[in-house]
Amino acid sequence: MARLAQTHGLTEVQQEIVSTVREFVDKEIIPVATELEHRDEYPQEIVDGLKELGLFGLMIPEEYGGLGESLLTYALCVEEIARGWMSVSGIINTHFIVAYMLKQHGTQEQKDAFLPRMAAGEVRGAFSMSEPGLGSDVSAITSKAVRDGDEYVLNGQKMWLTNGGTSTLVAVLVRSDEGHPEGTAPHRSMTTFLVEKEPGFGEVRPGLTIPGKIDKMGYKGVDTTELIMDGLRVPANRVLGGVSGRGFYQMMDGVEVGRVNVAARGCGVAQRAFELGVQYAQQRHTFGKPIAQHQAIQFKLAEMATKVEAAHAMMVNAARKKDSGERNDLEAGMAKYLASEYCKEVVEDAFRIHGGYGFSKEYEIERLYREAPMLLIGEGTAEIQKMIIGRRLLEEYRFQG
Ligand SMILES: Cc1cc2nc3c(=O)[nH]c(=O)nc-3n(C[C@H](O)[C@H](O)[C@H](O)COP(=O)(O)OP(=O)(O)OC[C@H]3O[C@@H](n4cnc5c(N)ncnc54)[C@H](O)[C@@H]3O)c2cc1C
Repeated sequence: MARLAQTHGLTEVQQEIVSTVREFVDKEIIPVATELEHRDEYPQEIVDGLKELGLFGLMIPEEYGGLGESLLTYALCVEEIARGWMSVSGIINTHFIVAYMLKQHGTQEQKDAFLPRMAAGEVRGAFSMSEPGLGSDVSAITSKAVRDGDEYVLNGQKMWLTNGGTSTLVAVLVRSDEGHPEGTAPHRSMTTFLVEKEPGFGEVRPGLTIPGKIDKMGYKGVDTTELIMDGLRVPANRVLGGVSGRGFYQMMDGVEVGRVNVAARGCGVAQRAFELGVQYAQQRHTFGKPIAQHQAIQFKLAEMATKVEAAHAMMVNAARKKDSGERNDLEAGMAKYLASEYCKEVVEDAFRIHGGYGFSKEYEIERLYREAPMLLIGEGTAEIQKMIIGRRLLEEYRFQG
């Protein structure tokens, strides 16, 4: 085996796309990522390059101007991009989830209105479920929409929008009790709204404010924001799918493919950490030999590489299951859980291999060390993944006695 994380059975087109992205990452992302990250600078040139490569439309059907590729192709590209810089994969991810939700659940008019411009990267997507008081417990959403003629009036505060400032189309999940009798389960009275807005900060549309960037420990460059709706008026034809009350299921569908994407990011970051660790271990000498020749360090490298392989295999399996049209919540949950935990462990081992230099901002591993924890949280924490996995296992292995 020449390299870790090879994927067998890819078509020629898939191989070509993934190797083009890898080349782009090696040439255009890795050399500048750490510097941009330290400045918390938006990687505009990189984003323009990704647009040219067609990555914003990778999974959007060809009839809407996209490349019509599979979830597997998308996940393998994300893995490559995250290997270069995780924040760049974050820029694409919310866009991809919104495009996926439109493709799966949008009305024909909504698909025609947004997908071609999304494929070109002209319209850029963000998705918003979390609020200041909730993240895991989506059913507790308090933001509310009230119908007023041909419009809805939205009020409430949202939190943690990746690409909140740079996006121009936000899929927002709110409570909308209209038409649902009292006592309806919370997840049946939620609606996804497609909210168009100007990019930037401040009042980006009457009734809609994006206050500014949240200052984060890592995952810099990409903007993460709050979103405040204060009498925001949205036309009824911007309810995703045209019917209220389906938002919870639409968002969960989006999050499920998002989980494969987060797993892919974990794989990419772990691969990069392994590369940095294995290179450094052959350069640094202690006690008269390269530290790679000490068995304790070799064991670390062996464990790291095994984790990289295992996470990649589970991520590919989850993507292929979805592509085959089957339910993949169990596989996606397992892949997300394993890849994010392994990523954190591999990054920590690479950090330890670097000794004191790992603590210096001059070394790339310092950045990875601050980035990996985000994967433990985004698209559902480890505890939430384990709840999903546990429930599904009890369904599959129901005691018949
Ligand atoms: C950088 C970043 C970007 C983000 N981007 C987005 C975005 O674009 N859109 C969006 O909507 N959200 C986004 N989020 C929010 C993210 O999805 C939430 O932070 C995440 O779901 C966890 O929710 P929480 O932070 O409210 O934690 P909580 O739900 O308050 O959980 C706190 C702790 O309790 C645990 N816990 C919660 N419930 C249970 C339970 N039943 N059993 C056991 N343990 C439990 C959790 O695992 C966690 O350890 C982002 C977050 C970050 C940090």
